[in-house]
Amino acid sequence: MEETMENQVPERKLPDPDEMYTRLEARLSGIGHPMDLKRIRAAYELAKRGHEGQKRKDGSPYLTHCVATAEIAVDFGLDEDSIVAALLHDTIEDTDITHDEIERQFGAAVADIVDGVTKLTRVQYTSKEDEQMENLRKMLMAMAKDIRVILIKIADRLHNMRTMAYQSPEKQRSKSLETMEIYAPLAHRLGMQRAKWELEDLSLQYLDPDGYREITSSLEQKMPQLEAFMDSVKRKIQQRLDEEGIHASIFSRIKHVYSIYRKMYAQKLNLDGIFDLCAFRVIVDTIPDCYNVLGIIHDMFKPVPGRFKDYISTPKPNMYQSVHTTVIGTEGIPFEVQTRTWEMHHTAEYGIAAHWKYKMGDNGASLRVGDEDKFAWVRRLLESQQESDAQDFFHNLKIDMFADEVFVFSPKGDVINLPAGATPIDFAYSIHSDVGNHMVGASVNGRIVTFDYVLQNGDIVEIRTSKSAPGPSRDWLNVAQSGSARTKIKQWFKKERRDENIERGRAMLADELRHNGVALEEVLDEELMAPVLKRLCFNSPEDMFAAIGYGGLTAVRAANRLKDELARSAKDEKKTALDKVSQAAERREQQAARRESKPIQGILVQGLDNCLVKFSRCCTPVPGDPVVGFITRGQGVSIHRQDCENYIHRSQDPAEEGRWIKVSWADEISERYNTSLMLFAQDRSGLVMDIATVLNSLNAKVRTLNARDNGGNAQIYITLEVQNVQELYFIIGKLNQISGVTEVTRNGQ
Ligand code: MN
Repeated sequence: MEETMENQVPERKLPDPDEMYTRLEARLSGIGHPMDLKRIRAAYELAKRGHEGQKRKDGSPYLTHCVATAEIAVDFGLDEDSIVAALLHDTIEDTDITHDEIERQFGAAVADIVDGVTKLTRVQYTSKEDEQMENLRKMLMAMAKDIRVILIKIADRLHNMRTMAYQSPEKQRSKSLETMEIYAPLAHRLGMQRAKWELEDLSLQYLDPDGYREITSSLEQKMPQLEAFMDSVKRKIQQRLDEEGIHASIFSRIKHVYSIYRKMYAQKLNLDGIFDLCAFRVIVDTIPDCYNVLGIIHDMFKPVPGRFKDYISTPKPNMYQSVHTTVIGTEGIPFEVQTRTWEMHHTAEYGIAAHWKYKMGDNGASLRVGDEDKFAWVRRLLESQQESDAQDFFHNLKIDMFADEVFVFSPKGDVINLPAGATPIDFAYSIHSDVGNHMVGASVNGRIVTFDYVLQNGDIVEIRTSKSAPGPSRDWLNVAQSGSARTKIKQWFKKERRDENIERGRAMLADELRHNGVALEEVLDEELMAPVLKRLCFNSPEDMFAAIGYGGLTAVRAANRLKDELARSAKDEKKTALDKVSQAAERREQQAARRESKPIQGILVQGLDNCLVKFSRCCTPVPGDPVVGFITRGQGVSIHRQDCENYIHRSQDPAEEGRWIKVSWADEISERYNTSLMLFAQDRSGLVMDIATVLNSLNAKVRTLNARDNGGNAQIYITLEVQNVQELYFIIGKLNQISGVTEVTRNGQ
């Protein structure tokens, strides 16, 4: 907030990229493992050339962002290639520097990382759930190639979030939501605690500024008290550990704002109701000392039952290790103590990046993650998505979505996303229906498996096919988990059966006709066949054969009809000629009817062909609403709901008589419709966030969400896209359940 004010002060000193770079270089030369500073400087010079003249929103040279991103990469402990790539991360996107140019100067690894970051940057985020999933999938794929792409993307996002104050409110909101939904969880899964906290707090600042300020200002007020408390606990622990001869460093901190915010939300408390604002960390040299410290803490303070967690013997999937316990201090205030070794501490702070560093240290030369590791990493990441961390409601919301899914690899390394419980059959049909229909065997991770094997995250699945495969069997329908696989199997049956049935039916009919001295070819004449088909309600001869084949029509009945028709046509050729005329007339009529009833934007307008249709803004009807049309002057037919106030009033107006016409929805509507809702609620912190969360979890396609405060009462205007009225009422029902919401109405009512 101060930054925005600063922005208006003209003489504010803008960051200077050269100064920043000098500082970065000084830091790099102080790092333990040697880096090629000439190469890094060359990257800086290239970025400088490329971004020449480009400015950021705050007016500073764009290059400052590149250096800042590289600085964060250094904070993360990344390798030389990563720092080079961080400096160049926006060059492919925003300058005329090409992949080839980077590759020539800095090698393929750097060029590929920059390319990967560019691809992620180009992914457009809208808060549509399915597109978000797609983004995540793309990211996972990118991870499978080179994890550094993600690490640099997180560094890039972190710097952008730090400097978000200069962006428009819309951009602040959308970037914050994206950060909260994608980047913070990613950082979490990668074990990068620090980055995750910062991303969350920065996002919260824009998503719920009031809630954020409420917490920070009350924390500020409480600070002297909290600091005194933390000091006294720290001193007590330190003294006791000294007595026991354990070498330890003790740190205390206030929990990050978003974790407090979440707790306030989940327990519906204000800040005064939250006791464990402080956390302590004891860092020791050895694992046995971790357990010694734990015993001492439990001896000093009363442990809260059920809160002891040993992540040393069972590390979290993101490699996090520590022992946690919550105890109650002499003041009656509970607090958490985490004990870990220094090595564990680095991993906890920097996650995968720390591991990266260790790996590099081991064998220096190898900078790429080996192929084996490639899959192991993704597998672990995916497993960590299913871990349930009860504290984390917002993440859980997103993680739950992953619990329904499983990610597996094709032999080529493509990530295929299937519903949980999916089998090789689902996998095969997701590649192509031909692969499914010709499947004869499957292997997972090189081992042959049965068709009902349940695929696990990270499995590499290979399908064996054969041209002479017998095709799916009926019980595949029970084994397949995905709707699309089942549909494809059913299609196969329908199609296979149909061909079979047509053939059988035709043979049966030919047989029956032969008994009557008629050859099938004689009746296969279109003119003769048409009235018979019409009387028997079939669209084509094939349909009739198929029906005979499966027993829906007896061959005797069909043969008799055909015989009758044959006799009639021979008897009265004139009448046949007349028939032809009337049939043609009938056909024309049918065609006209079909054309007229062609829906426009999902709406059928009685008696009007091809007219302009628009949906009235006063009541925003959606499919399923009873509707009525109004013939406007020159703007086609506007569609209103039958319960729209405008319609109810104006339909009585004699001046407009005859302009209201019947309209109806088409049977099959694929598009989505804009509609709007007004939500009334008692205002509270986090309300808008809750609404956004509910809408997100419902997959609602939200277009706008505007909140207005009306003396403690919030009015929130939401426009969204829905498929039909059922979906809309489901959403309304869920919105009504949000605490504080008093009423949700559709507009026009
Ligand atoms: Mn960038």
